[in-house]
Amino acid sequence: MFSYRHAFHAGNHADVLKHLTLVAMLKYLTDKDSALTVIDTHAGAGLYRLDGDMARTSAEATQGVQKLFLGSDLEQKQPLAQINTAQAAIKSVASALQDYLDALASFNSNATGQRVYPGSPLIIHSLLRPEADKLKLFELHPTDYRSLSGHVKQLDAGRMVTVDCANGFEKLKTLLPPPNKRALVLIDPSYEMKSDYGQVSACIQDALLRFPTGCYAVWYPIIPRPEAHSLPKKLKTMAVQAKRTWLQATLNIGQEPPRHAPGEKPSKLVGLRASGMFIINPPHTLKAALQEALPQVVAQLGRGRGKGFTLMN
Ligand code: SAM
Repeated sequence: MFSYRHAFHAGNHADVLKHLTLVAMLKYLTDKDSALTVIDTHAGAGLYRLDGDMARTSAEATQGVQKLFLGSDLEQKQPLAQINTAQAAIKSVASALQDYLDALASFNSNATGQRVYPGSPLIIHSLLRPEADKLKLFELHPTDYRSLSGHVKQLDAGRMVTVDCANGFEKLKTLLPPPNKRALVLIDPSYEMKSDYGQVSACIQDALLRFPTGCYAVWYPIIPRPEAHSLPKKLKTMAVQAKRTWLQATLNIGQEPPRHAPGEKPSKLVGLRASGMFIINPPHTLKAALQEALPQVVAQLGRGRGKGFTLMN
């Protein structure tokens, strides 16, 4: 049941889309005076080593976040802002992208370069206000739960952050509506089990009844599977029926050009190339922020046929 480990995928293009969007939402939501509760139903381990065995096995970060830094070498540490503009076709870095890069930079010293990648719990924590906001984390995998608990302990965040080894879909019900009536909910399952698609829909349906004004962000893979195809459609229907605004953002890095020796049969292409974020009640600034940032992400991460982004609302 628990074969998925996010450490194999940390910093990939899906994390770039998800965390870029997350940072943009948090920047807006924490700019208001009132307290915010953030609920991360599928938190993962919290922090990942990009030079560790798991990340190196899949090398997904080399096709993701590391392309936002000069070269794909872990020793390279210059952020996108310093990339030769002719090469990157970027004159000035979009503010949402810069905010995301700044959030990552705070976890890596200049001396060591981009060695660790923060997961959603630590990114969220870095943007919350200790005196006002709350962060509720859920992670079911026992090993990742232990890692997450250890990372959170080091934050010394006291009662601001709670970590539970529990089913995030179920626990969300007990937290809505939040006492301060402002919440951002990130729902980021691995979708390894087909049942995750149905659980996300049911969870959002229930959450919209309990707390219609919450901001809900769902990550989903774009893969040739009927459940994956219909999930954003279902979320859109629910948002429309509940008379809530919504925003759908997708990022496709395109098909990797086949690498094979002359005369050799090309290997079957594997790996996730595209994913989406579906947001219900998005901050009104989010679409413009992503509209500016995503072309720059595609310019850096795009690698072949099909590359691009979409934004719909
Ligand atoms: N949100 C993390 C991030 O962005 O850094 C990554 C999360 S990863 C895609 C999904 C995680 O959900 C895995 O660590 C998995 O063990 C955990 N998980 C799976 N089912 C769960 C459930 N019902 N409740 C809580 N966690 C679950």
